[in-house]
Amino acid sequence: MAHNNDLGSSAFPGGLFKSIRTKLIVYFCLLFTIVMVLVGIFNTFGIPFSTYSGRQGEQREEAFQSLSLVADLKKERLLRWIEERHDDAHMISDNDLIRTSVSQLLQTANKHLTSQPSSSDLAAFEQEDNYQGLLDFFRAVIASHEVYHAIYLADAQSGTILVSTDQADVGQNIRHQPFFTGVLENGHVFISDIKINPRNQRPYLNLSHTIRNKQDEVMAVLIIDINTDDILLPILHTGEGLGQEGEALLVNRDGIILSSLKHPLADGTQARPLEYQIMAEPAVRAASGQEGVIEALDYRGEPVLAAYRHFEISSEGGWGMVVKRDRAELFAPLRRDILYTSVIAAVGLLTVIGFTIVVASNLTRPLRSLSGVASKVAEGDLEARAPVTTPDEVGHLAVTFNHMVQRIQNWQAELEAQVKARTTELYDSEERFRFLFESMLDGYALHELICDQSGAPIDYRFLDINPAFERLTGLSRDLVGKTVLEALPGLERHWIDTYGQVVLTGQPIKFENYAESVGRKWFEVVAFSPAANQFVTVFRDVTERKRVEKERERLNRELMDKNRELEQIVYVTSHDLRSPLVNIQGFSRELNHAFKRVAAIIEGDNLPADIRAQLQPILEEDIPESLQYIFTSTARMDSLLLGLLRLSRLGRVALEIEKLDMNKIIADLTDTFEFRLQQANVALDVANLPPCLGDEGQISQVFANLLDNALKYLDPSRPGIIKVSGCKQGDQAIYCIEDNGIGIAAEHQPKIYEIFHRLNPGQSDGEGLGLTIVHRILDRHHGSIWVESEPGQGSKFFVALPFS
Ligand code: ADP
Repeated sequence: MAHNNDLGSSAFPGGLFKSIRTKLIVYFCLLFTIVMVLVGIFNTFGIPFSTYSGRQGEQREEAFQSLSLVADLKKERLLRWIEERHDDAHMISDNDLIRTSVSQLLQTANKHLTSQPSSSDLAAFEQEDNYQGLLDFFRAVIASHEVYHAIYLADAQSGTILVSTDQADVGQNIRHQPFFTGVLENGHVFISDIKINPRNQRPYLNLSHTIRNKQDEVMAVLIIDINTDDILLPILHTGEGLGQEGEALLVNRDGIILSSLKHPLADGTQARPLEYQIMAEPAVRAASGQEGVIEALDYRGEPVLAAYRHFEISSEGGWGMVVKRDRAELFAPLRRDILYTSVIAAVGLLTVIGFTIVVASNLTRPLRSLSGVASKVAEGDLEARAPVTTPDEVGHLAVTFNHMVQRIQNWQAELEAQVKARTTELYDSEERFRFLFESMLDGYALHELICDQSGAPIDYRFLDINPAFERLTGLSRDLVGKTVLEALPGLERHWIDTYGQVVLTGQPIKFENYAESVGRKWFEVVAFSPAANQFVTVFRDVTERKRVEKERERLNRELMDKNRELEQIVYVTSHDLRSPLVNIQGFSRELNHAFKRVAAIIEGDNLPADIRAQLQPILEEDIPESLQYIFTSTARMDSLLLGLLRLSRLGRVALEIEKLDMNKIIADLTDTFEFRLQQANVALDVANLPPCLGDEGQISQVFANLLDNALKYLDPSRPGIIKVSGCKQGDQAIYCIEDNGIGIAAEHQPKIYEIFHRLNPGQSDGEGLGLTIVHRILDRHHGSIWVESEPGQGSKFFVALPFS
């Protein structure tokens, strides 16, 4: 559970996106915002890589068109204004009346106006009719044209002002003024640059025009001072299309302003006409003769959109005109639009958020409910079930989830029951093993092997021992934690080596060994390695068994010696006894012959009848009977002695052990017994027999004796059946010779192997040696024999011999 919790908290970091609802809201709002922003940007600034330049681009284009229009209009008005001034000058100058008046006045002037005219001369000159006529005409022109500040007339030859609307000028010489020299040079008309009138400190310009006589000779020069402010300001500062902040301005060829500016300069001062040179790009371009539109900074440093024009008005050089609008003012509606659009978008966003919250809440409610239930289940509440409120996928998920939880609950119950059962079993098992551990007679110890740097075992440490260990070794429990060499410094090295092999190879081992250092005892030890570098020993004290085994071996050896001795005695005795027996048999036969001769003599007539009568019973009964006894007994004794000799010889004959084909041995024996089997009408049934290891002659003898007995002890009252069978059992071959003969009573069965023991001596031939020999041969072959028999039913003799 702890693991799951960790996974739950660490696998999904980030608080904001913990719920689908938040994700939906954020994603929808993000989407809406991105779309709105993109629409806004494209709408305002155009679509990249397309011809659509957006509202800002359109507005800029419109603004440039409008500014160009205004600039062209103003340029046209200025040009027309100048044209009108030209026409005015032309109308005044090319007038016959004026020409006549000027011509006459020039004649008078030569009389009155010398190089240094006195005031009386001037007064007299001013009284001239032509003078007054011209002056009145000039004053009438000024009165009808407000833009004209002064009109005066100068002698073309001397440059002296002859007539002027400003009386103080009369008599002044202007022959060095550019407007005078200029008009004489180019012939007809000259327009000066705008300059400041020193009298009234207002900007003005001069328009000069020649007045020619009938011979087209220049008589005089007409000069009109034109007040430029009065005409330029209305032209420049009136008209539509420049907004609040927009303006038109005029500069001369050097970029010096010819009209006053609408706005103060960047430093806050107001620039005066003809005193301030504009370095702003539009003005510079216009002054240098270029025409066009531009977005640049103006003289205040404000970004503006401007149209600039150039025109040649002055005879002294061209003028530049800049018509401009502040960028900020121009795009203010657009910014306002963007602001409104943003407000609308924000309202839309809020609406989307609200709508998304509602939708997301509705959509995720069953999911959150499911998630809550899942959390409860994760915390272990398997009773929790998700409510199925909708028929959609989430409802289906809830049903599946509930089904899953139900299955988990079932599994858990099942598992708990299993765990409980296993725990009980384990507890019982642990109890049993603990009891076994504590009470077992075998010693138990758990050790840890200690090796040197090369990995060779050099010692081992006791980790645990049981009470039997203490009892068997005489060592106390304090041993735990110590190494064996600490506890038993004199321990034989082979113990450590043997256990080292168990740990290093992992192969368990069982062995017996002697421990001089542990109470001089023999131990039978089973050692195995339950874990890396550890081994367990389970051992028992076999000192007593070892002692008994040794004693048994000693006794066996003694017995074998005695047996051998006995066999020797039997052999020698039976062999030696046969010599006197042969003598007895021989002399008995001699005695019989002698007796027969004596009997013949006695049968003669020489012996008295009473003596014959007395000898009669002796000769006919006692002596023959005694001799018969002697013959029978000696024959029996000879047979016994021969039997003993055979038996004693068995022990001395060396065995030639080989693998025996028992089928062949039985077949050979069957041939030998063939005649007797036919005589007795016996059915012999021989099955396939497994081979065995043995000496062929002696094993053949075993089966010959058993078959002989089976034949001998058949029941004459029923047809005899003899069966020979065999099988392999483990490492032994088991053979069975079965007959349906007279059988052997249970109480006699143990005795049938005893020497000379016969159950029914009178009923059959035999010496009671056959089974004794069989037993002896099988002993020597490490085999065995046993019988199963019932009197009247038959007998089964089983022979076990080594198979391999
Ligand atoms: P014997 O020369 O008498 O046959 P054995 O040592 O061969 O001597 O047998 C000992 C006695 O065991 C026999 O006298 C007989 O009474 C009994 N015996 C042996 N084989 C059988 C058999 N197949 N059926 C019944 N009795 C048997």
